[in-house]
Amino acid sequence: RDETTASSGAPQTPVSFELYPPRTDAAAIALGRTIDRLAQVDPAFISVTFGAGGSSRDRSLTVLRYILENTDIEPMAHLTCVGSSHAEANELVRRFLDAGIRSFLALRGDPPAGAGEDAPLGDLATAAELVQLIHRVQQEREPFAQVAVPGNPGARRIRKRADRTRVAVAAFPTGHPRSKDAARDVDVLLAKEVSGANLAITQLFWEADDYLSFVERARAAGVSIPILPGIMPTTTPARLAKLTELTGVEPPAEYSIALEIEPDAAGQTDIGISFATDLAAEVLAGGAPGLHLYTYNRHEAVLDVVDRLGLMPKTQTANERNVTRR
Ligand code: FAD
Repeated sequence: RDETTASSGAPQTPVSFELYPPRTDAAAIALGRTIDRLAQVDPAFISVTFGAGGSSRDRSLTVLRYILENTDIEPMAHLTCVGSSHAEANELVRRFLDAGIRSFLALRGDPPAGAGEDAPLGDLATAAELVQLIHRVQQEREPFAQVAVPGNPGARRIRKRADRTRVAVAAFPTGHPRSKDAARDVDVLLAKEVSGANLAITQLFWEADDYLSFVERARAAGVSIPILPGIMPTTTPARLAKLTELTGVEPPAEYSIALEIEPDAAGQTDIGISFATDLAAEVLAGGAPGLHLYTYNRHEAVLDVVDRLGLMPKTQTANERNVTRR
C-alpha cells in the first residue's frame, strides 16, 4: 500500500515498530495484546528481531505469523547471517518466504559475545551479501507472479518477475561500534543499497543532528533509499544504561541525569516520552520520511509518542477496519 497515505486517505507520516520474540508463554500472550494495540495506529510495518546465530528463529516466526494472520499490518523479519553457511542462509530465507513473509531487515549480526577473533563467521561477510541472497532466493522461488488485470477482475496476466520484496538494512548515524571513520559508515550503507536494499533503519541516536547530518552525508555519497530514524522512548534509568551498553551510543548527560534524579516512576516515564517526542519532532521537521519506534514489547510509551506528535490515524469505524483487513 501507499505508505504516504493512511487508510483514511489523509497524508500521514509512516510509523513502524520493532518487537523482539518473547521467551515465555506469559510474555507471548502479553505480546499478542501489544501487537493488537500497535496495529490500531495502522503502522507501515512491524519488525521482529532475530537472535544472531538463529537462536530465536522459531520464536521470531511465531510472532511474524501472528502479525500476518491477525492484523492487516506488514510483518518484517530481521534475519542475521553471521555463522551461517551459504546453504543455511538460503534455507533460512526460504523458510520465511514459505511462511508468507515478504519484508526483511537483512543483518550480518554479531558473533556470540566472548567469541575469539578466529570464531567462524560463516560464508556471508556482510549484510549486503544477505540482501542479494534474499532477492535471489525470492526470484528463484517466484519467478513469475500472477497479477489481476485492472478493470477485469476475472482476468489474470503473468508478470515476468515477482514483485520485489522489501529488504531493509541497518544504518548507524553515530557510527558502527567498530567504525574508526564516519565515511566508512556511509560507504557500508551505499554498498547495501547497491546490493538491492530498498530501506534503511537507523540504530538509536539521541541528538537529531546525528541523524540529520548522517542523512546529508549519505545523500552526498549517492545513497537514495529512505533512511528511517530509529527512536526509543526510554522510561527508566536502568533501561537507558542497558541500551547504552548494548548500542555503545552515549545519551546526553542532561537526559540521563534527569531520568536518574526523578524519584517517581510516572515522572521518569514522562521524561522518556517527552525526550523521544521532541527528538522525533526534530527529525521529522528535518525531513525524516517516517519513524521507526523501538517498543521494548510495550505499546504504552510508543503510542504516547505517536499521540503527542499528532500522528494517530483518525478513528475508523469497525466496518472500515474490516474492509482493510486481509
Ligand atoms: P554490516 O553493516 O554488514 O557489518 C558487518 C560487520 O562489518 C560489522 O559487524 C562490523 O564488524 C563491520 N563493520 C560494519 N560497519 C563498519 C564500519 N563502519 N567500520 C568498521 N567495521 C564495520 N542484531 C541481531 O543479532 N538481531 C537483530 O534482530 C538486530 N536488529 C537490528 C536492527 C537495527 C535497526 C540495527 C541498527 C541493528 C540491529 N542488530 C541486530 C545489530 C547488528 O546485527 C549489529 O550492529 C552488527 O554488528 C552489524 O550488522 P549489519 O547488518 O549492520 O552488518
